[in-house]
Amino acid sequence: MAPVARYRKRKGGGCCGTATVNCAAGRTKWTPTDSLAFVGGPPLFRPPEMPVYISVTFTWDLPKAHRLAREWGRYYRSVRVGGPACDDPGGDFTPGLFMIDGVTITSRGCPRRCPWCVVPRRSGAIRELELVDGHIIQDDNVLACSRPHVERVFEMLGRQKKSAQFRGGLDARLLRDWHRSLFDSVRHNELWFACDTRAGLKPLARVAKILDGIPIRKRRCYVLLAFDPKETVADAEARCEAVYELGFLPFAQLYQPFSRTGETRSYPRDWRALSRKWSRPAAYRKRKRIPVDPQGSLAL
Ligand code: SF4
Repeated sequence: MAPVARYRKRKGGGCCGTATVNCAAGRTKWTPTDSLAFVGGPPLFRPPEMPVYISVTFTWDLPKAHRLAREWGRYYRSVRVGGPACDDPGGDFTPGLFMIDGVTITSRGCPRRCPWCVVPRRSGAIRELELVDGHIIQDDNVLACSRPHVERVFEMLGRQKKSAQFRGGLDARLLRDWHRSLFDSVRHNELWFACDTRAGLKPLARVAKILDGIPIRKRRCYVLLAFDPKETVADAEARCEAVYELGFLPFAQLYQPFSRTGETRSYPRDWRALSRKWSRPAAYRKRKRIPVDPQGSLAL
């Protein structure tokens, strides 16, 4: 999300104010666009007195979020900073509040304990939420939900006008054959998996078989870089290439440890170059082409 200070009218009358802030990248495609969403500090013409919430996604934005809180605090009595970067567990999902309309969260939490991830500590075990319509699924680990919940999610997706996107990530270890029928029952254009360690390649290879026939442009994969101090740049690049060979478009991200003060880990140039290259399909696809048959499936 982007640096946003956001106000929103509460359904059924009365007003509550919310503000979300993520100062890293400016406005992004996730930023709400309604008239009660603001990017940065308070504007000249401001809404009336109401609570302000500043939601921060990434810890490195915390110093900017606190600066914005001071700025909004000059005009509003109640200003709060929260969100994932503050370890907020997250309650029920309110559509359009901190993310664009279309994004929905049907569950929170995760049963796993990946050492690089804040979700288990922040949100705890998986809990299924009441379904709210949307076509972009942003759950922490939707495949860890019960089968009836997952089936209800796909029923909901089948009612949406736009193609489904699974942006929150699909746990490759939990994907089963019956999920394929559900994917085939709805329009979709982004299925995001993850391969954060070398060990992640094996379940991804199994997923590749289940997804056979789904074009590579829809098959995406987050690739965490530099979490394992023993992994070299060459090892990490080999992992990115292996993900690509399996028929997924890698999206590389350098590991940043959780920090309450917003400190970030800096990386040498070769790690940064690797991350840049493997986070832009246009950069790596032109160097190496995987043969694709006319139906869009891979000829591996
Ligand atoms: S499976 Fe995903 S959400 Fe769960 S702990 Fe691991 S990285 Fe985090």
